[in-house]
Amino acid sequence: MPKPDAMIGMAAFQLSTFTSEAVVELAATTLRKHGLRAAELLCLANVLGSRRRGALGYPSKERATKIGKLMEDFQLSIHGPYAISLTTKDPKMLQNSRTHLTRCLRLADAVGASHVTFHAGSRRGGQTVRNRVQQRLQEVMVKCEKENITAVPAPEVGGKIASFGDFEEVCAVAGNSGCLFCWDVAHDFARGGDVISEAGLLRRIELIEQHIDLSRWRLPVHISGIVAGRRGEVRHAPLGEGSGVPWRLFLSVLREQKFLDKVVIICESKATKRDGFDFRVEEALKLKAFVDSGEIDKEYRPSRPQLTQFLSQDSVESEPEE
Ligand SMILES: [Zn+2]
Repeated sequence: MPKPDAMIGMAAFQLSTFTSEAVVELAATTLRKHGLRAAELLCLANVLGSRRRGALGYPSKERATKIGKLMEDFQLSIHGPYAISLTTKDPKMLQNSRTHLTRCLRLADAVGASHVTFHAGSRRGGQTVRNRVQQRLQEVMVKCEKENITAVPAPEVGGKIASFGDFEEVCAVAGNSGCLFCWDVAHDFARGGDVISEAGLLRRIELIEQHIDLSRWRLPVHISGIVAGRRGEVRHAPLGEGSGVPWRLFLSVLREQKFLDKVVIICESKATKRDGFDFRVEEALKLKAFVDSGEIDKEYRPSRPQLTQFLSQDSVESEPEE
C-alpha cells in the first residue's frame, strides 16, 4: 500500500495577547524536528475586551499574522474558548459566544488556520437544541461569507452524554451548515459511540463522506486516552490509559480505507502529573510512529473491564471537557 499523507500534530500553545515569538518558534522547531505537521493553537480561556491584569485577550491581527508566518508550513487550527455555547437560551451568553466565534474565525484567517474547533454546549432540549445549533452555525457561515472569512467553525463531538452532540448529530448539523466538525474520537468513545468495532468506524467514515466536502478540507480529528464514567467523559488521559480508546484500531481502519489522507489528527492526551509540552510531543509521536510503521492492528482490547469502569470513583468527578 502506498504511504499515506498523514498529518499528525498536537495542541501547541496558548494563543493570546501574551504569546511570545520565542514560544512560537520553540514549538515550531520542535514539531518540525519530529515530523509533526499539524498544530492546534489554544484560545481556551481567552476573554473579550477585559482590561483585567493577566486576562488573556485575543492577539491583534498584526501579531496573529506574524505568528502564522512562523508556522507557515503547518496545518493550523484554533481551539475556541470554553465560554462558547451555541445551545444556550441566555441572550447575553449567546451574544458572547457569537463574538468569540467571530473573533476566533478572523484570528484563524490571520494565522492561516483552516478551522476553529469548539464545544457546542449542553444538549438539554433534544431536537430543538439540534435545530438551534444548526441555525446558529448557518448564521455564522453567512457572517463569514459577508466578511470574506475562509476559516470555518468545527463543533466537536461532545464528550459528556449531557453535551451536544453525538457523532451523527454533529456530523449532520455541520454538513447541513456547510462547515466542518471535529471528530473527537475519545469523546465519541466516552459517550458510548461505536468506535470500538470496525463496523462502527466504517459507518462513521460513510457519514463523513456523505456530509462533509472532503475535496475542500481535511476533517479535523482529536484523539487521546480518556477516563469515561456513567455520564461520559471524566477527563482526558494518555493514549492507552484511562478507559481504553481504541486508537490503534482507529488508525488501522483509516489506513485501510485510505482515509489518513483526508483527516488532520490532533493528539489531545493529558496526564495529571506530566502535562507539559514534551509530554504532548511524546504522545503525538506514538500516533505518528504507529502510522509510519504501516502496522495494522484491528483487535480491540479494553484497558479495564467495562463494569469496573462504570463503578469507578472517577465517574463522580466533573471537569470541563476538552
Ligand atoms: Zn477535543
